Amino acid sequence: MRETLVLNASFEPLSTVSLRRAVVLVMQDKAVVEQEHAGLRIRAASIDMAVPQIIRLCRYVRVPFRQRAPWSRRGVLIRDRHRCAYCGRRATTVDHVLPRAQGGPDSWLNTVAACADDNHRKADRTPEEAGMRLLTQPFEPTPADALLLALRVRDQTGMPDWLAVPAA
Ligand SMILES: [Zn+2]
Repeated sequence: MRETLVLNASFEPLSTVSLRRAVVLVMQDKAVVEQEHAGLRIRAASIDMAVPQIIRLCRYVRVPFRQRAPWSRRGVLIRDRHRCAYCGRRATTVDHVLPRAQGGPDSWLNTVAACADDNHRKADRTPEEAGMRLLTQPFEPTPADALLLALRVRDQTGMPDWLAVPAA
């Protein structure tokens, strides 16, 4: 997978994103190409552009890249796109994989989005004890996740809790 380096508007390197993401950012006028891959082009129905090696954001974004995103229930639901980790249906609750009753922490790696039915069924048991299987493994949001989410909003209003940035 070819990765593109993303610079902030201030030219500070922020992160890398997939080539597909980089092209989308340029096409949506959220970034400009700073450096192209010599001789490599992307050709599709409505696109003919050089493959970007480095892009720079048009607008300065403040994202806590070197900081771990603080855990929150709302953040878990957003990370998992409101899909239940046990059945794939719409999730409105957060389940602790290792239950809190057994010492399971509030952390990105120990929590998943779950529908109310599955959360109730699992109760204070591990997936193994409850005979349930995780369809996806919980993960910690990466700096690239945070960057892409941050770019969709004009300012911090409406930004997920786990992306909220302390005032500088
Ligand atoms: Zn479910």
